[in-house]
Amino acid sequence: MRQRAAARLGRYLLATTMLARAAPSARLSRVAWSPRLFAPRALASGADAAGVGAVTDEDFMRTALAHARFAYDADEVPVGAVLVDMATSTVLAAAGNCVEASHDATAHAEILCMRRAAAARQSWRLMDCTLYCTLEPCPMCTAALRAFRIGRLVYGAPSERLGAISGSMRSDSRHPYHAVMSVRGGVLADECAAMLQGFFQRRRQEPAGERMERQPT
Ligand SMILES: [Zn+2]
Repeated sequence: MRQRAAARLGRYLLATTMLARAAPSARLSRVAWSPRLFAPRALASGADAAGVGAVTDEDFMRTALAHARFAYDADEVPVGAVLVDMATSTVLAAAGNCVEASHDATAHAEILCMRRAAAARQSWRLMDCTLYCTLEPCPMCTAALRAFRIGRLVYGAPSERLGAISGSMRSDSRHPYHAVMSVRGGVLADECAAMLQGFFQRRRQEPAGERMERQPT
């Protein structure tokens, strides 16, 4: 089973890498950078600038959920994220967690998105972007969101234990230089939480010898 999951993840990583290479800048057309799995249906169907306003936070969260599902199928903790240019509603990057396959504890979906978008734009300043994530970010990702100057964060399920926005890991102190990040939580929270609950339920049902320790991001 793990071999099949690894093969699926390999195909997924190859596809996202190819798309990142195919999108060297945010100036590329939305059609080129918006295949079905990487953008909400409204954009993928070719909505023009006048129709962009119809794309909602829930639409982008569904795209993040699709990437969480990829992670689930690859036996990663199912968290997905999408990074969107606010002015044009263009999807700049999308990713699911990739900690296990890459042996990288920092390979959370949020961080992968920001790295890919910054590389594509040739700029780490992402203050005009919204990061959508299916789970409230952990302290590491929240620090990275601020370092990348993300302008807005939208997350799905709250994370009581590890959340750094409203959960027990939050910090109420303001950064001395960074602008305040706008935050909206609870978007499609039930669907996002159900994905995680299903994953950990499945893990608990596996024989103890095959079970690997997983911690939510
Ligand atoms: Zn994280």
